[in-house]
Amino acid sequence: MGQIGDTIRALHNSLPNGVELVAVSKFHSAEAILEAYNAGQRIFGESRANELKDKAATLPADIKWHFIGHLQTNKVKTILPHVSLIHSVDSERLLTTINTEAHKSGRHIDVLLQVHVAEEDTKFGFTPDELVAFVSSLTPDSHSNVRICGVMGMATNTDDTARIERDFYAISQTFQRLKALNILNPDSFTIISMGMSDDYLLALKHGSNMVRIGSTIFGSREY
Ligand SMILES: *Cc1c(COP(=O)(O)O)cnc(C)c1O
Repeated sequence: MGQIGDTIRALHNSLPNGVELVAVSKFHSAEAILEAYNAGQRIFGESRANELKDKAATLPADIKWHFIGHLQTNKVKTILPHVSLIHSVDSERLLTTINTEAHKSGRHIDVLLQVHVAEEDTKFGFTPDELVAFVSSLTPDSHSNVRICGVMGMATNTDDTARIERDFYAISQTFQRLKALNILNPDSFTIISMGMSDDYLLALKHGSNMVRIGSTIFGSREY
C-alpha cells in the first residue's frame, strides 16, 4: 500500500471520535483520490466547480464531494448535482442562488456559512457580527431549499500559534452565537469546519469537528 493510503489510515486512527475528515483533493489526480478511497476515505474536498464536476463523473458514486473554495454564483448549477456539502457560503447572494437552483431541481442542499476572522484581507466570508446579523434576519421560509449545517473558517496563515488559536476560538464562538439565536435547527446546525494540514491540531483544541486536510495526504500541489 502506498503513502496516501497509509496517511489516510493514520488520520482515521488519530482523529477524535466525531471529527470528520475531508480529504482535500483539489489539483490531485483521480488515481491519488482512488488510493485514499481504497483506504476507506469517502469525503473529498474540491475548490473549483469544473474540477469537482469532472471528478464526480468518473470516480465512485458513493464519494461525498464537498465544495470548499470561493463559489461564483454562475457555477452553482455546475456543482449542484454532485455536491453533498458546500462549506464556503460567503454572501447572501450566493445563498439565495443556491436556494433558487436547489428549488428548481427539487433538492435540499447542505451548506456552511463562511466566517472571516483571519488577518489576510483576500479571504472571503462574513465577519462574526455580519453573520449574526444575517442569520437574525432569516425566517423559516427564507431559503427553504438550503439547510444551514454550521460554519467554516480559516485561521491566519502565520507561524504565530497564539494568533491561530485566537482565530479558531473566534470561529467557534461565532458558531455558539449563531446557535444561541435559536433560529437554525439545532439538529442540523452542528458542524464547525476548521483546520488544515498545518493547523488542524489547534483547530481540534477549539472545537472543530470537521478538518480539511490536503497536502499532508496528497503532497504539495502547484498553484
Ligand atoms: C486547500 C484548502 C485546504 C487544504 O489545505 P492543506 O494545507 O493542503 O491541508 C483546506 N481548506 C481550504 C478552504 C482550502 O482551500
